[in-house]
Amino acid sequence: MELALKTRLKELVGNDATIRERIFERELCSSDISAVPFAKRLFNTTPELVIQPLSIEALTQIVQFANEERIAVFPRGSASSGLGGIIPTVRGVVLDLSCLNKMLELDPEKGTLQVQTGVRWSEILEFLKLHNLSVRAYPSSFFSTVGGWINTGGYGIGSLRFGHLKDQVEAIEVLFPSGELKSIDSDEEEFVRFFGTEGQFGILVTATLKLRRKPTKSLPLLIYFEGPGDAFRFMTEMVQADIRPYHIMYLDAAHLETVNKRLGEDLFRVNDAALVEFEEEEERRNCIEFAEHRGILEEEYLAHYLWHERLFPMKQRSGRPTPLVCELLVPLKRAVLYLTQVKRLAKGYRAEIQVEAHLVAKDKALVMVTHHCDERKLFPYLLHMTLIPALMKLGIAGGGVPYGVGIWNTPFITDRFDERTLTIYQTYKKKVDPHHLLNPNKFFAVRTKWADIPGILFKPFIFRALIRSAVVLTPVLVRLMGLKEPGEAESCLEETVYSCMKCGSCAALCPAYMVTGDESLIPKNKLYLAKKLLAGEMIAKSDSDKAFLCMHCGLCREVCQNDLDLVTAWSALERMLEDKYGKPEEAIRNFVSAIEADEDYWRFAYAQKI
Ligand SMILES: Cc1cc2nc3c(=O)[nH]c(=O)nc-3n(C[C@H](O)[C@H](O)[C@H](O)COP(=O)(O)OP(=O)(O)OC[C@H]3O[C@@H](n4cnc5c(N)ncnc54)[C@H](O)[C@@H]3O)c2cc1C
Ligand code: SF4
Ligand code: SF4
Repeated sequence: MELALKTRLKELVGNDATIRERIFERELCSSDISAVPFAKRLFNTTPELVIQPLSIEALTQIVQFANEERIAVFPRGSASSGLGGIIPTVRGVVLDLSCLNKMLELDPEKGTLQVQTGVRWSEILEFLKLHNLSVRAYPSSFFSTVGGWINTGGYGIGSLRFGHLKDQVEAIEVLFPSGELKSIDSDEEEFVRFFGTEGQFGILVTATLKLRRKPTKSLPLLIYFEGPGDAFRFMTEMVQADIRPYHIMYLDAAHLETVNKRLGEDLFRVNDAALVEFEEEEERRNCIEFAEHRGILEEEYLAHYLWHERLFPMKQRSGRPTPLVCELLVPLKRAVLYLTQVKRLAKGYRAEIQVEAHLVAKDKALVMVTHHCDERKLFPYLLHMTLIPALMKLGIAGGGVPYGVGIWNTPFITDRFDERTLTIYQTYKKKVDPHHLLNPNKFFAVRTKWADIPGILFKPFIFRALIRSAVVLTPVLVRLMGLKEPGEAESCLEETVYSCMKCGSCAALCPAYMVTGDESLIPKNKLYLAKKLLAGEMIAKSDSDKAFLCMHCGLCREVCQNDLDLVTAWSALERMLEDKYGKPEEAIRNFVSAIEADEDYWRFAYAQKI
């Protein structure tokens, strides 16, 4: 972007937006949860500016300006979605919406809450507790934003009882690329187009959520079974028998084995299991009766532990930083067959997979197959990456529907939406975003920067042929190469750096980030700085100085998806930086005084019992 344009943009927004233009700050937006090799070569993943609007008016001005000047715009919530959905593809600006996070209007009579869409689900639940209210469902990425979840999946904890997220939103306000701000009610035809379409049509600015009374009890049950067949039969029959749980999830034996390893104790049986959450005693009693002779009930405290862990679905602490995840909605009656095929295929790839499935309707489960890899071992990593689309293809053949598109699932777009819906969406895109400025070159089709030759490989019919060959060739290559899992990392800092999945959970409770709004202070971004340092790259003194702005409060560890020993890592990082660049004593003093003088910090510290 030309300097003159940047200057005009800065003048336009004045103090109503924070603009970040240093290379380190921009690079922080250039990767997402599952690193894909070559992404930086295929796309322009580093934005020219990161803009954090502080008001809807400022956001509108920026979007209008971008439209007039034909600048591509990439909206960003908490950046917890993967599949390349959040990385820029062409030169343009990232719009960080995390400061548009106000609770706007609570109507307890009607049971609705209007929020700005940059607010996180965790913040909404905390706010509603004060009013004895709650949301109906929420994603297990509890720290992600309302705008982000509406734009991606919309199924999560509580979907079995309350349905898809679109059934829990009464109205939305959308800012179109032209700068038009429009309110759309749930009974209008346009409404559903904004669910799961990954920011293609407009920027969601507000949403009015339907609420429910805050449940007074949490009564989880953990039931073991001999295999997936028994577990799925139990879950299917139970919901058909009209026992009403709030949520049901299936965990495979490998999942529970990992939990045991992580805890260093054989607390759980290594069996397939169903974790069922009830809010009413009677329903729970009915379930216990129903489970008799069908499965084995675990102790209550262990069920409670796993229910708490529902918000940490990827916890591993494995030194394998990159979770490769295949997610799709599978008809319940085909789920067991699918899992059998999945395990057979994964065995050929010598991949240690884990399966978790959430019932999201009486006849449908959201199945997640996760394989933790190490992106540092490029060739094995590339081989294992082919497992994910292969699993996706298997699921689709069995009537499944892909969940999430981004960049890497675009070859499956025709399986995600039927032809009619896709045509409507493409026509609508042309109408509302004629210059393709919102999240361009992803979702509908991929275009790369190299004469688009690699992009052609993403065309559904070519991609599928490639995957068919990979399914045959990869197991042979894996066997020939005798693939081993990665070795031990050298130091605590190194282990932490390479075990970070970039999920961004840690931002949710970090007081340093909350008070400054500066993304460089988010733990995952400090680990990115450490990664550069460990790789021997030069970093700017100003970036080094920022890494010291930390309260060492340890809240990041409490919510870390990978249970990383972050405070120890901060001490190690600070020692390394101090040796190289010195310690910014004055900046630290000013930071601590600013934090301690901040009312929000104390309110927050009190709530979190720091
Ligand atoms: C540990 C973990 C658990 C997860 N659990 C679930 C789950 O239970 N269910 C589920 O569906 N997903 C889940 N996910 C995936 C992801 O967290 C969700 O998709 C999440 O809700 C995305 O929200 P976000 O704020 O991080 O959005 P981002 O990742 O920042 O953005 C996602 C997409 O939406 C667009 N976008 C964001 N905000 C707006 C806006 N206001 N207007 C227009 N476009 C916008 C972005 O451009 C991008 O394309 C999980 C991820 C992790 C790491
Ligand atoms: S220890 Fe530092 S990085 Fe972690 S939450 Fe506290 S202030 Fe944030
Ligand atoms: S430090 Fe933990 S919570 Fe933060 S991004 Fe990394 S894995 Fe996720």
